Amino acid sequence: MPLRSWLLAAACATLGGCATAPETPSSMPALTRAPQPAGVEVVWLGQAAFKITTPGGKVIVTDPWLRTNPLTPAAYKQLDSFGKIDVLLVTHGHFDHIADAPALAQLYKVPVRGPGDLLNTVMTLGVLPPELLPRMNKGGTVGPVPGIKVTAVRAEHSSIYVWRNPATGKDETHPGGEAIGWVIELENGFRIYHAGDTGVFGDMKLIGERYKPDLALVPIGGNFTMDPADAAWAVKDLLKPRAVIPMHYGANPLAKGTAAQFSAAMGSSAVQVIVATPGQPLKF
Ligand SMILES: [Zn+2]
Repeated sequence: MPLRSWLLAAACATLGGCATAPETPSSMPALTRAPQPAGVEVVWLGQAAFKITTPGGKVIVTDPWLRTNPLTPAAYKQLDSFGKIDVLLVTHGHFDHIADAPALAQLYKVPVRGPGDLLNTVMTLGVLPPELLPRMNKGGTVGPVPGIKVTAVRAEHSSIYVWRNPATGKDETHPGGEAIGWVIELENGFRIYHAGDTGVFGDMKLIGERYKPDLALVPIGGNFTMDPADAAWAVKDLLKPRAVIPMHYGANPLAKGTAAQFSAAMGSSAVQVIVATPGQPLKF
């Protein structure tokens, strides 16, 4: 079945019929799902890196580990190949999430959005100037460009920033704030939950109920994050998006989880599992 038809069918199944709105606790604003088709393009670039093109033509890049990422297609290892970046998001300070963010920020004159205390470290080390490091923290929602809203949400992970001191040639480990995930709302209301690196945690239910993500991007590799079984449980029982793309596997030998294991663990769930190939554009 074509993806868009599937998503519509899945949404109807999830909502118990297309004419019926989902139940919302009375204390929460009633967010509604985005209309379908939403005109969104998502390209996985390996690990937690994605290029998202919005219905309004904005380009959002997440967790850019590109030049030394074994899964990143050759074209995207050329940092100037993006043409433009309107929103640049990182979830925490580990190399496999922030590696190319400073270079992209300089190249495209786009601020890095991430945990405020991580950005403070990046600033005081002189890696980027303050104007490219607007601070925020968990619970904060900002509109980095018109029509786009990003919210920093909890992740169950850690964060350090390893920086090579040019004066000594040695690596130093600096505080990296606390790891976060992102809820990204596009111009038409389509919402993407990028979980960052995380274990499963109970407030994923809150994220699911409050933000009703259309698409979830969740780590499945295990060892550093959820494994396929935990990730499937989180998606089916807590987040309940329309569709999910597994990420953060296949690039580190310690993260042994596979997309096949994740798909099997999802079973007959109404959530569509989309196993992305790095570089392949996916339409929503
Ligand atoms: Zn990672």
